[in-house]
Amino acid sequence: MSGTFDLTGSGFTSARTRDRLMARLMTQGISDPHVLDVMRQTPRHVFVDEALAHRAYEDTALPIGHSQTLSQPYIVARMSEILLAAGARQKVLEIGTGSGYQTAVLAQLVGTVHSIERIKALQDKARERLKAMGLNNVRLRHADGMQGWPGEGEYDGIIGTAAALGVPPALIDLLAIGGRMVLPVGAGQRQSLVLVCKTADGVSQEIIEPVHFVPMLGGVVG
Ligand code: SAH
Repeated sequence: MSGTFDLTGSGFTSARTRDRLMARLMTQGISDPHVLDVMRQTPRHVFVDEALAHRAYEDTALPIGHSQTLSQPYIVARMSEILLAAGARQKVLEIGTGSGYQTAVLAQLVGTVHSIERIKALQDKARERLKAMGLNNVRLRHADGMQGWPGEGEYDGIIGTAAALGVPPALIDLLAIGGRMVLPVGAGQRQSLVLVCKTADGVSQEIIEPVHFVPMLGGVVG
């Protein structure tokens, strides 16, 4: 227990319940042992309202208010795995902090996470949860993430957790040589997870699989 958060969990949020989710992720093809370990240890129930805590270890997206959703565990695992597939990442930029769950998972897998959220109320809650978990390698910013995070240099990993109509050019500019960006691209029901890689020779894009995310929107709220 840390402050108002039950980080350990019991009953529907117990270690056994989490192990069942990990087994499911493995049958869906998630194989990176670090990603699986971190997801087993990260209390997803802390990132949703108490009334939804009993559903936190189901492989489903869950509402977090303000018409936004916490992504399905499979997608969080898949995106983390793709980001890490070519080696460790030192500095990762996330667009769409939301509940902070993907942020928390990443913070345990990479050097530092810079995460941008356009809805202040969501950012405030995420900050409390990340603090309660003792994750000190996270920086949060309230802004429109499509513009990137000016003045902070380049990133060797970028992750988008809301769907843009195309890969935002400002984010491609922020990707270091050797960097990888994974994000959903498309509108409505027609979205794909896209991997963007930058090398000295240029930028490549690869479509991974169909996905369904909330849209990436411009401007800020709150
Ligand atoms: N990774 C989050 C998913 C939240 S849903 C989680 O684990 O909970 C996507 C989030 O992206 C929402 O909170 C939404 O407000 C935010 N978002 C959408 N467009 C954005 C933008 N342009 N800049 C920053 N955040 C944005």
